[in-house]
Amino acid sequence: MTRYVFITGGVVSSLGKGLAAAALAALLQARGYKVRLRKLDPYLNVDPGTMSPTQHGEVFVTDDGAETDLDLGHYERFTGVPASKSDNITTGRIYQDIITKERRGDYLGATIQVIPHVTNAIKAFVLDGNEGFDFVLVEIGGTVGDIEGLPFFEAIRQIGQESPRGTCAYLHLTLLPYIPSAGELKTKPTQHSVKELRSIGIQPDLLLCRCDRPIPADERRKLGLFCNVRESAVIEALDVASIYDVPLSYREAGLDREVLDHFGLAPNAEPELGRWRTISERVKNPEGEVTIAIVGKYTGLKDAYKSLTEALTHGGIANNVRVKLEWIESEVFEREDPAPFLEGLHGILVPGGFGQRGAEGKIRAARYARERNIPYFGICFGMQMAVIEAARSLAGIEAANSTEFGDTPEPVVGLLTEWMKGNELERRAAEGDLGGTMRLGAYRASLKEGTKIAQIYGGTEISERHRHRYEVNMAYRECLEAKGLRFSGTSPDGLLPETVEHENHPWFIGVQFHPELKSRPFEPHPLFKSFIAAAVVQSRLV
Ligand code: GLN
Repeated sequence: MTRYVFITGGVVSSLGKGLAAAALAALLQARGYKVRLRKLDPYLNVDPGTMSPTQHGEVFVTDDGAETDLDLGHYERFTGVPASKSDNITTGRIYQDIITKERRGDYLGATIQVIPHVTNAIKAFVLDGNEGFDFVLVEIGGTVGDIEGLPFFEAIRQIGQESPRGTCAYLHLTLLPYIPSAGELKTKPTQHSVKELRSIGIQPDLLLCRCDRPIPADERRKLGLFCNVRESAVIEALDVASIYDVPLSYREAGLDREVLDHFGLAPNAEPELGRWRTISERVKNPEGEVTIAIVGKYTGLKDAYKSLTEALTHGGIANNVRVKLEWIESEVFEREDPAPFLEGLHGILVPGGFGQRGAEGKIRAARYARERNIPYFGICFGMQMAVIEAARSLAGIEAANSTEFGDTPEPVVGLLTEWMKGNELERRAAEGDLGGTMRLGAYRASLKEGTKIAQIYGGTEISERHRHRYEVNMAYRECLEAKGLRFSGTSPDGLLPETVEHENHPWFIGVQFHPELKSRPFEPHPLFKSFIAAAVVQSRLV
């Protein structure tokens, strides 16, 4: 039987609902249950693909090529289960489907309304494809009270009514702020949030309360009483040092036990949390430290690079070191010499990005890393900029550029218009839509034997996730290889460059894909593991 846990949030946003969902999934998984995680996003975009990362954080790409919410990244990292297109939906997509059907005449003259048509579409999505799972955890984006969230709350309310008794739970994540002048954790915002939830027909079964100190017995009693929740189901979600401590901290607070109790399931033996303890221990007690510069353009909002920072942490875990990050807006290097900013750092990473702003600064960072023999990791845009740098400085092609920034006589990076997806040819027109039209999702690549990257992967056949519209131009391969920039990996048909590396450099690798999306704390991605290892070596030199 499949059981549903609906996860809603209240009081304020950014309480970490996605992490809470992922951590609960990890706990249930540690008890041997099969768990699926899904996210409902109330915004009107069809998917987050066209949203600025500075507003909404990173766009997480799945193997099957969906551009999804970054919470799906947490889900994957915590459970190890790859997310898919069918794990995330938005209001925009629901409406797009409904309107397409309406235009086709599928509704046979009916008036299309939020209830039942929109809510039915949401319910159909939530209930679909869950066979074989013991638990389906469904996170609702935003906070209770948001206007655009209402159809989603209504839909999950209906699911509760229509499902067999005892198969649904509502978990509400709230904040208990500490007010220094009163010397107390305040319960009123939570009471109001639950009141709001109850006014739309949802009675939470469990409260997960974010707080910076333990909840005193009195406050716990008050929360139980005023929110109509069992006292034991008021769970403390204490602030923790690392996100990988969250499952252990929830376990301590009794969350999994309470969830099982709600469903009338006797807790089997202790959950198997050994691997979480190991990770937590490693994060807490590293043996050294390296500092990596991230030269990017969305450095104002760290969520814009969520998977990347996690993957670097995983690389640190694999090498037993703490990875400190130095965030640098690449535009700065267009005005100032990079040396004072980068001197003494142990690695430089230029992540994915879009558009011209800051591109020259990234090219300068790549040059600095190449000339000074500092480990350089270029991801997607970061690879493209490194190739332009090599074309300009080593091959003497001064006008080398990317057509992403306008016409150029030397299109070292150009628009990608045709590529193979499995056995099918994908085509894009230069003037096509921006949404959902990039080269997206998992593609295989072949690495050349004897290259550094093949050695790092321990093999030559790989599959990685992509999200790009431009590609390095193969026409320049020969002249760049003659200057030591090896095209170490290509698409299996040999037509698209996938990876490059400088031969005469300790660690200079560019990849057209996003390896950070597949890194997990228990399985650090080989490239991040190796990059941090190179940074450790560098740290001994400086
Ligand atoms: N803007 C570049 C492209 O579309 C790089 C994209 C990225 O870094 N994800 O190809």
